[in-house]
Amino acid sequence: MSAEPRLMLVLNSGSSSLKFAVHDTEHPTPLLFGLAERLGGENAVITFREADRKKVLPLEAANHTAALDALLAELSHHGWLDRLAAVGHRVAHGGERFTHSTLITPDVIADIDACSALAPLHNPAAVLGIRMALARLPNIPHAAVFDTAFHQTLKPEAYLYALPMSLYREQRVRRYGFHGTSYRFVAREAVRLLGLDPADHGLVIAHLGNGASATAVQDGQSVDTSMGMTPLEGLVMGTRSGDVDPGALLHIMRMLGLSVDQLDALLNKQSGLLGLSELSNDCRELEAAAERGHAGAQFGLEVFVHRLARYVGGLAMSLRRLDAVVFTGGIGENSVRMRAMTVTRLRALGLTLDEATNAVTTGGQAGLISAVGSSARIAVVPTNEEWMIVCDTAELADRAVLESA
Ligand code: AMP
Repeated sequence: MSAEPRLMLVLNSGSSSLKFAVHDTEHPTPLLFGLAERLGGENAVITFREADRKKVLPLEAANHTAALDALLAELSHHGWLDRLAAVGHRVAHGGERFTHSTLITPDVIADIDACSALAPLHNPAAVLGIRMALARLPNIPHAAVFDTAFHQTLKPEAYLYALPMSLYREQRVRRYGFHGTSYRFVAREAVRLLGLDPADHGLVIAHLGNGASATAVQDGQSVDTSMGMTPLEGLVMGTRSGDVDPGALLHIMRMLGLSVDQLDALLNKQSGLLGLSELSNDCRELEAAAERGHAGAQFGLEVFVHRLARYVGGLAMSLRRLDAVVFTGGIGENSVRMRAMTVTRLRALGLTLDEATNAVTTGGQAGLISAVGSSARIAVVPTNEEWMIVCDTAELADRAVLESA
């Protein structure tokens, strides 16, 4: 009998959702993935996706435990439960405590909980997901993988805000950066694709999805990034504003008499591409509308690109040398138009695009899209955060076995 590869479960527990993926340790494509949504509300459902099949089931109880039970029942139905070797949990905020992925222990859970002040929406949900999964799957290792960990290599000049230092010392107010798991994966793939020296390279990676950020990676380490203490700073996003003059926020609060929660909703849910276009947060939809002459859509995309190009240029100044600009995320991987608009704005850096290769590099393909003679290369590298979580979890689980032997 040939030994079948071990299976890893990846969980991403949100306040009203539970995203999951099941991988074997040999293939970056998941065997099964999906999402339980509207947890805590009405009509909670769980959706399972496998290759080209999709199954949607109502959930009896609209909570995370019911969602996990439905997922475990599905695994059992496939005969996969016995092969499940470890669980990797995606955690939004690791503060300054977590610089790497780690095996989960009671102390680690307490430390993730302690980071909740920095991510009040996300970390409590992650802790809930971890506790629940430990209760259901107590005999296999669980690991935590943090969105912030990769950026813990930032130097103080890159992570400090020019605020009174007491806010940093006492409240840990500083820039942390996010999308770290994606950057770690994409940086590694880009070095391989472009044949760069793993110990001597400079990349600016733009992770452009519904959430969007950009990061300068030097010699495999994050040296600067656009997101800050929260995932709100930086680029224009689907519904998030990115950078706004803090003075403008004070003005808006005073003029409109907004509460903190109202301002929070305005900046996180009503701004970005949606706020600018007054149409949609979805880039693809906006491109189609701009094509039809919708002025708001065109305008939204242009602000997005203007801000992005400014960030790419600025981030490059944190590198010793710019070897490549790398696009990833739903927009970065697929939007021929947004990449072209961005690179056009980067001409002062001497970057030029090969229109033909740009036009065909979509739909999950990696490739080089710069013209011969471009000052640095330009590449598209599809991200795979789940696979990075699987790799980290498998490595931590193996190390735990070795250490206990
Ligand atoms: P993500 O959050 O990484 O899944 O990315 C979602 C974003 O990618 C949405 O704004 C989509 O409209 C955008 N996107 C996906 N495919 C395309 C495409 N072919 N052209 C333009 N935008 C796309």
